Amino acid sequence: MTGWVYKSTGSYYTVKTATGEVYDCRIKGKFRIKGIKSTNPIAVGDVVDFELDQSTDETMGQIHHIHDRKNYIIRKSVNLSKQVHIIASNIDVVFLLVTINNPTTTTSFIDRFLVTAEAYGIEAVLIFNKIDTYDEAALDEQLYLQYVYSQIGYTCLRVSALEHKGLEELKAMMQDKVCMFSGHSGVGKSTLVNALEPTLDLRTSAISDSHQQGQHTTTFAEMFDLSFGSKIIDTPGIRGFGVVDMEPQEVGDYFPEFFALKEDCKFNNCLHKEEPHCAVKKALDADKIAWSRYRSYIQILEGEEEHYRGDQYAE
Ligand code: GDP
Ligand code: ZN
Repeated sequence: MTGWVYKSTGSYYTVKTATGEVYDCRIKGKFRIKGIKSTNPIAVGDVVDFELDQSTDETMGQIHHIHDRKNYIIRKSVNLSKQVHIIASNIDVVFLLVTINNPTTTTSFIDRFLVTAEAYGIEAVLIFNKIDTYDEAALDEQLYLQYVYSQIGYTCLRVSALEHKGLEELKAMMQDKVCMFSGHSGVGKSTLVNALEPTLDLRTSAISDSHQQGQHTTTFAEMFDLSFGSKIIDTPGIRGFGVVDMEPQEVGDYFPEFFALKEDCKFNNCLHKEEPHCAVKKALDADKIAWSRYRSYIQILEGEEEHYRGDQYAE
């Protein structure tokens, strides 16, 4: 039998089949997934093959195979530097909630998030929430951001979770997909999920309490079915979107509008900083690339360069 992992306690996995039957499964034998050292062999979102446990009742199973993962998000393990914890896998789309005010979501935050999504290979969509509160200045700002990000190819939606505006469009985008919601504390994640599915009480808001930052509470992700044919992965206690280490050379590849120009840079290892005949810098000067995007790029690049140098010294 085949099913999705909806929940994991570390030793037991709740697996649901396409027809809706739920089984408690354990792992049969040891699993080693190539190319990744993780503290957990199976994560929420995994598609697994299992067989029913003959010795017990008919609701227990043994997992003997994991299907290849389309993608997965990780968090670094606290003690073992080279090991990671897989938070969730097979995510079709991650929605980043963005607010112009109360709280302000900066372009730097948005860009970091998008880079991470690109690195993970997960489609990201921007949801501008609280449109009911906009004054003229906020509207201008939002429309500008929407212009910048849709130019690059990111889908943007405008909603009001409070006034239930734009929700039908969002539901249509979520149809038949495994979804995640992310964004700063106070942007309206809980309000939005409640507006989509009033009976579902996610723990999303627990993500953001500042005293939890940096603490590694043992909280597990969980997947939920929504009534309109969508799945949500809830990741309590996990801030943002996990961590990805990148080589400095890679960073530009996760800015789609930079990546598209890469071939035109004189040097094939161009970091788009001070190199001569850089197509990215040329596009920037011609206003074809947003300055905020370039600023975010330099910030991320310098962070990774520092990290990279740090690693070298540590060896
Ligand atoms: P979370 O921390 O991301 O889960 O945010 P919450 O869902 O708890 O929302 C934070 C605050 O923003 C609450 O007071 C909500 O009522 C409010 N809020 C959420 N969505 C909207 C919206 O679309 N419009 C307005 N005006 N307020 C909203
Ligand atoms: Zn360049």
